[in-house]
Amino acid sequence: MLAALISAFAMTLIVGLRYLATSGFFAWLTQKVRPGLYAALKPQIGREIKWSLLSAAIYGVPAGIVTWGWDTQGWTLIYADIADYPVWYLPVSIFLYLLAHDAWFYWTHRLMHRPWWFKAAHAVHHESRPPTAWAAMSFHPWEALTGAVVIPVLVFCIPIHVGALAVVLAIMTLMGITNHMGWEMFPKFMVNGILGNWLITATHHQKHHDAYRGNYGLYFRFWDKVCGTDLGLGHWKLHSTGDSSHHASSGIDGQLT
Ligand SMILES: [Zn+2]
Ligand SMILES: [Zn+2]
Repeated sequence: MLAALISAFAMTLIVGLRYLATSGFFAWLTQKVRPGLYAALKPQIGREIKWSLLSAAIYGVPAGIVTWGWDTQGWTLIYADIADYPVWYLPVSIFLYLLAHDAWFYWTHRLMHRPWWFKAAHAVHHESRPPTAWAAMSFHPWEALTGAVVIPVLVFCIPIHVGALAVVLAIMTLMGITNHMGWEMFPKFMVNGILGNWLITATHHQKHHDAYRGNYGLYFRFWDKVCGTDLGLGHWKLHSTGDSSHHASSGIDGQLT
């Protein structure tokens, strides 16, 4: 029991430090690539870091307990010997995790935009106007809980190699940060091509933060397209000065799905 608690505490530290390191790196990169983009957003960035570190604790506890259970109790379907499953299953398992996470995120995100849930929880995430690289985990604790359970539940349902799981977590972290950092890192031909048509990058998620509705997906545009909530790609010129006044008018009524 004590070992499980220590594992939960250690994982909280790891998630928190990983957030500070990766968001810090992309904030630094933003300063290099788009100087001054965050200049007017200092108080907001302070709030984003506060909420994100709280989320790190909420993500760390279930992840740490499951890691302890995997290591000492034989829990989960995580495997370490690459020969346990065919090699082709490695990319398939990564894809299955992303698909499952995306579906869960889409529907919980839509729920979060119902008026009661929005006021109680999701408004915290939308306080970022526009979001920055520090906003990747800026969630109210209720919302952080809905995200924190995903991977710890999936490892009991879908077999995955420990290295493939690391890839899933890396994609989750990178896309979470870059989709909020206020500029597009992929070249235009990719964003406007097949890749951007099916995968969600910053240009797509920025539109969600602009409109307060639509574009609810996490990795794929599949659910948004199927459910008619896809608003298309956003535009960047509005964000070049850090001015957030254009968001005000779309705020309240836009909360409704
Ligand atoms: Zn939202
Ligand atoms: Zn967001």
